[in-house]
Amino acid sequence: MQSTPYDVIIIGTGAGGGTLAHRLAPSGKRILLLERGDWLPRERANWDSAAVFLQGRYQARETWYDADGHPFHPGIHYWVGGNTKVYGAALFRLRPQDFREIRHYGGISPAWPITYDDLEPYYSQAEQLYQVRGRHGEDPTEGHWSQQYPHPPIRHEPRIQQLSDDLERLGLHPFHAPCGALLDQDDQGRATPFSRCIRCDRYDGFPCLVQGKSDAEIICVRPALTHPNVQLLTRTRATRLVTDGSGRTVTRVLAERDGQPEEYRADIVVVACGAINSAALLLRSASDQHPHGLANRSDVVGRYYMRHISSAVMALSIEPNPTQFQKTLALNDFYFRADDWDYPLGNIQMVGKSDGEMVKGEAPHWAGWAPEMAFEEIARHAVDFWLTTEDPPLAENRVTLDRDGALRLHLRDVNGEAHRRLTAKLQRIVSRAGMREHLLPRRLYLGKLMDIAATAHQAGTVRFGTDPRTSALDVFCKAHDLDNLYVVDGSFFPSIGAVNPALTIMANALRVGDHLLERLK
Ligand SMILES: Cc1cc2nc3c(=O)[nH]c(=O)nc-3n(C[C@H](O)[C@H](O)[C@H](O)COP(=O)(O)OP(=O)(O)OC[C@H]3O[C@@H](n4cnc5c(N)ncnc54)[C@H](O)[C@@H]3O)c2cc1C
Repeated sequence: MQSTPYDVIIIGTGAGGGTLAHRLAPSGKRILLLERGDWLPRERANWDSAAVFLQGRYQARETWYDADGHPFHPGIHYWVGGNTKVYGAALFRLRPQDFREIRHYGGISPAWPITYDDLEPYYSQAEQLYQVRGRHGEDPTEGHWSQQYPHPPIRHEPRIQQLSDDLERLGLHPFHAPCGALLDQDDQGRATPFSRCIRCDRYDGFPCLVQGKSDAEIICVRPALTHPNVQLLTRTRATRLVTDGSGRTVTRVLAERDGQPEEYRADIVVVACGAINSAALLLRSASDQHPHGLANRSDVVGRYYMRHISSAVMALSIEPNPTQFQKTLALNDFYFRADDWDYPLGNIQMVGKSDGEMVKGEAPHWAGWAPEMAFEEIARHAVDFWLTTEDPPLAENRVTLDRDGALRLHLRDVNGEAHRRLTAKLQRIVSRAGMREHLLPRRLYLGKLMDIAATAHQAGTVRFGTDPRTSALDVFCKAHDLDNLYVVDGSFFPSIGAVNPALTIMANALRVGDHLLERLK
């Protein structure tokens, strides 16, 4: 006799939840996906930079609070596919060293309970699944790989190829950035039906109108739903998890569907709401058996929040930069150290190309810089970079809930000096690579950068580990304190490295998926 209507409930359909659903779907197990968002509409505004960046059309209308109680609107997106609906699909692996302890200027990044070798097969599987384009072997800092990327890299357009040549001339090691794209040339160089998109500048931060982006909805959720054993409920927000009397088993998921209370039951419950919302859901699920929040005997739930110290900057090329798809180049020469510094600085990569509307939106922040150039003219010469420095995890950087349930995010950057040095390196590079030496901050990409509202790369709030006193999850991301509760999104990271996190979340979801398939046998 079946005791519950579902074998597995997955809460959240982003990089973690969507990928897990894809792995479990062929098993025939009864799977229910709960997603607070809806299907993202395909509409002209998908590619309208004013709608996307200035008006935040696809961002959630949420208000959270910082440690001092100041309200802010997080750069977060609630849709089927989660934040991957707007991500740039730069799908990097962590370096093998990122799985070990690393000493940063601002603190220590602890070792993971698994090694790069443990995750490597799943990195390969995730790269195949998400159709990543790139070339293993180009980046001298990358770890070993068991399968080449399924597709060759997206070719640099001429201005970026020139930049790549200039960087090599300076003794650096640029490489093709791995990118998840269902478009451009096929392996024989023929244009595919989506070829328009890859030439377009509406990728990074935008939903893809022609569905040419390898996001979790297109790659995982839709295919999973072709299996009759998989069901999705949209506009359904999980509000609380309830356990049995022993406190060891989650027996009910309480939710609101279009504002109406609902409840669902399954043998296994997977929380995949994104690092901040997963922590909040567990904290909201406090009970007599779990007075500090579900799965929180260690008191780490909500703590060790990480989000990268990142910034987007614009350099101005002396020659015009007519590039449309700009995210093809990356540089890890300063990932572990620099010639003049012994601590890690981070990763440099390209970001989506600025257009006149974006420049206009940024202009007030530049206070008099380059006023003589028209917005369109600035955009024509813009070369845009994304810099990422690791933020070592701190116990006091955390998600908490106020008495009224409001979400509070505590954040202090301790590694800013490393980021300043990375920016200085880039500044020196651009001045020697055919660009003006000034770097202009692009504050509108991902909300106000360096600001607490930049939550795009959130991770770490329900960390995994072998010791239940210092971690909330075991090595398979099952809560130490419960028998049937898993967390499979960016929450599990003990440290975040300095590359974009999504591929690691996807690879881990496949790894946990294999574990669950064994368990469900
Ligand atoms: C503009 C932008 C650009 C980015 N670019 C890149 C990039 O190029 N490369 C990269 O690696 N990463 C990038 N990222 C980050 C990447 O998108 C995230 O790291 C990744 O999506 C996180 O996966 P996740 O599963 O943890 O959470 P998400 O993908 O956010 O999924 C969480 C899901 O849970 C749902 N949810 C939340 N709470 C509840 C609830 N209570 N009940 C039900 N459902 C709930 C949400 O609606 C969402 O669908 C970018 C992010 C943004 C915003």
